[in-house]
Amino acid sequence: MTNVAINETHRQQTAQLDVPPRLLMGPGPSNAHPRVLQALGMRQVGHLDPCFIELMNEVQSLLKYAWQTENPTTIPVSATGSAAMEATLANTVEPGDVVLVGVNGYFGHRMMDMAGRYGADVRRIDKPWGEVFSLDELKAGLEEHRPKVLGLVHAETSTGACQPLEGVGDLCREYDCLLLADTVTSLGGLPLFLDEWGVDMAYSGSQKCLSCPPGISPFTLGARAVEKLNQREKKVPNWYLDMSMVGKYWGSERTYHHTAPINMIYGFREALRLIAEEGLAERWARHQTNAELMWEGLASLGMECYVERQHRLPSLITVRIPDGVDGKAITQQFLKDFNIEIGNGLGELAGKAWRIGLMGFNSRPENVHMVLDAFKYTLNR
Ligand SMILES: *Cc1c(COP(=O)(O)O)cnc(C)c1O
Repeated sequence: MTNVAINETHRQQTAQLDVPPRLLMGPGPSNAHPRVLQALGMRQVGHLDPCFIELMNEVQSLLKYAWQTENPTTIPVSATGSAAMEATLANTVEPGDVVLVGVNGYFGHRMMDMAGRYGADVRRIDKPWGEVFSLDELKAGLEEHRPKVLGLVHAETSTGACQPLEGVGDLCREYDCLLLADTVTSLGGLPLFLDEWGVDMAYSGSQKCLSCPPGISPFTLGARAVEKLNQREKKVPNWYLDMSMVGKYWGSERTYHHTAPINMIYGFREALRLIAEEGLAERWARHQTNAELMWEGLASLGMECYVERQHRLPSLITVRIPDGVDGKAITQQFLKDFNIEIGNGLGELAGKAWRIGLMGFNSRPENVHMVLDAFKYTLNR
């Protein structure tokens, strides 16, 4: 025994964990499906156990279904969506590569920031927040900048707009450029066909339309992106996210890189099983129907959506804060009176719009009615 006295200052007697039963109707996290929470509590096996390897194979297959891709490099990154986002850039960007980012919301800025940190010559094309790029605008951007990578956000969670991706992959092939898509708020919530649309790399998150807690994130590289990774002159400048190493654990070698988050993978697998069980067509239709119910309900309360109808996301709705209303005071009231979380505006939409998520398990008519009732009650006071 040492005779150094133990410092007891931080030996707090804290209460057993308890949190209020929030309904998470903001930009994420959304509530996890009960079956996902149950799966998280399953006993552990080792991260190289034959049983776990079987689960890993199932996860990869189910993820390919959800994304509609045949990419062999389709895996979950052991961290949140931003890490999977960083992984796409870390693996494919070499210093001096021109990376063109379509900026029409908050997450385009994050993509630019990350690309710059990996030495990219970052260029941007802009649209006002809430609007989307046309194929002609994208073509003009490719023509002017001749990038190695074009980054677009399919579902801009900061604005509620859906960037159409049909035809963009063909355009990128004409210009010998890789197409990178942020599908964090679209995977599992709205139509997404990675291979059909020629998306070369994509990432997502678990806590949006997949209804799993945050901490594990879908990541995929297509053949053209893998080729760029294999032709790098120098190592990927990020050890943890280097897919030439992580890929060996998920591939046939099964070599240790970092310990997989076993229980998160149980939960993630259950989330993906739920998608396969429901079917993509049915799941997308459910999100669309509930979003339309919300749009009509908001309109009947005299409220206005921020995004033009044809480009609205079904998973994330931005609604204008009426004149003279303190947006943040209302979101606080929602929490206090209803245990409902909705989001405040982010970036350019701060103080101008609320953000309402209808994601995965939470995309249900009763939740739409609860949010609408909460608005009616709160705004009338
Ligand atoms: C949430 C989100 C991210 C980041 O994911 P984290 O899990 O918060 O790291 C990236 N892009 C979009 C569009 C998002 O909505």
